[in-house]
Amino acid sequence: MARKVSKKQTPKVTGPQSAKWLRVSRQAEAGCMSQQAPIVLDHGRGVMLWDVDGRQYIDWTSGVLVTNVGHCHPRLVEAVQQQAARLMNVYDFPTPPRVELARRMVALMPPNLDRCFLVTTGSEATEAAMRLAKRHTGRNEIVAFWGGFHGRTLGAMSMGGKAGGKKGFGTMLPGVLFSPFAYCYRCPFKMTYPKCDLFCAGWLDHVKATESTGDVAALIVEPYQGGAGFIFPPKGWLTRVHEWCRANDVLFILDEVQASFGRTGKMFALEHERLRPNMLCIGKGIGSGVTTAALMSEERLFACLAPGEMSSTHGGNPLCTAASLAVLDIFKDEKLEDNAARVGRYMLGRLRKMQRACRYLGDARGMGLVMGLEFVKDKRTKEPAPDLTVEVINRAVAAGLLVGRVGFHGNVIRVAPPLVISRSEAERSCDIMEKVLKSL
Ligand code: PMP
Repeated sequence: MARKVSKKQTPKVTGPQSAKWLRVSRQAEAGCMSQQAPIVLDHGRGVMLWDVDGRQYIDWTSGVLVTNVGHCHPRLVEAVQQQAARLMNVYDFPTPPRVELARRMVALMPPNLDRCFLVTTGSEATEAAMRLAKRHTGRNEIVAFWGGFHGRTLGAMSMGGKAGGKKGFGTMLPGVLFSPFAYCYRCPFKMTYPKCDLFCAGWLDHVKATESTGDVAALIVEPYQGGAGFIFPPKGWLTRVHEWCRANDVLFILDEVQASFGRTGKMFALEHERLRPNMLCIGKGIGSGVTTAALMSEERLFACLAPGEMSSTHGGNPLCTAASLAVLDIFKDEKLEDNAARVGRYMLGRLRKMQRACRYLGDARGMGLVMGLEFVKDKRTKEPAPDLTVEVINRAVAAGLLVGRVGFHGNVIRVAPPLVISRSEAERSCDIMEKVLKSL
């Protein structure tokens, strides 16, 4: 199905039907969303997507790491159809799917995370974590990380470590202190792992000593940073951060909104280093296309909230929770996290080979089925190449491979196919990317 890779400067990616819809979109839609390849998508199945012109794509985006069980998995579709015909929303009444989902989520967690609070979006989960930390401890400060992303509502945004998202929105929530994340490709301290001995994790002491009013409630961190450009800390870094929390009586919040549900090759990313957070934020893959999110935490922490002090209109509704139960069943039967580990290993190997061969591909990194390709003008200076990144995206899309970009400098392509991707689909999609890179 792969179409030819164009050597022309700007391949045509927009078909006539897409063009029609895009015209209407420009007239009616807000236009503040992130910019994707100029196509209009119509339907999907597994790892494949089709646009309104009938062109087919292998999907390396999974939405934004959402559709982990693949597009329109038949069991998920069936669960949604059945529940939609039965009951879709009630407010704060327990329903069998809500209660069952909470029970199964708790059963999957480390023993301390014995309570599940169901919400709708990842931002809602991180906001809830922040509020719970403040209420429980009676303290105000939150430690977060340069480059971190925790959502777009004001509290979540305040914990974000990227200036762009906050520009022009006035004062963020006071009391958020920032420490450097382990971005080894562009180490802010110009150090090299492992010789650095995780120097940046030790920086937390400086943050506390210089910025804190002695009032730190919690620390929030992602297992890897997605929005900042798919940045993976070296082994042991998260453990070091976790230990710092313990030593400083600070609640440890792990934001797995993006990393959970098999994405990193384990059901939850915390399994890689046996982390025991006090709170775990979950989103995206738990619904795999249906909006569910959750805050997993400890009974003793939730105890600070009286009934009615935290709830959500759509959170835990029967439709979404029935969908998430189907997602859990699919994971149980298809072992998608194992597939992510296996196929991801193959793909990262291929991408690293491409990195060696392509003078513009500065770094290829990842774990499981989440990887980042960082493009630079020159491998020595590492000057970011955002324009070239757009060119790569357009050529890939024109050739039948859907990719998107992120990163501080807009120079990182995310490689995050649905976790149902087969070895042969992975091979075909890597072949396309290899051809695209050769064509530059
Ligand atoms: N946390 C992380 C780590 C995320 O990646 C995201 C979404 N990209 C969020 C929180 C916010 O999730 P949502 O967009 O569902 O509010």
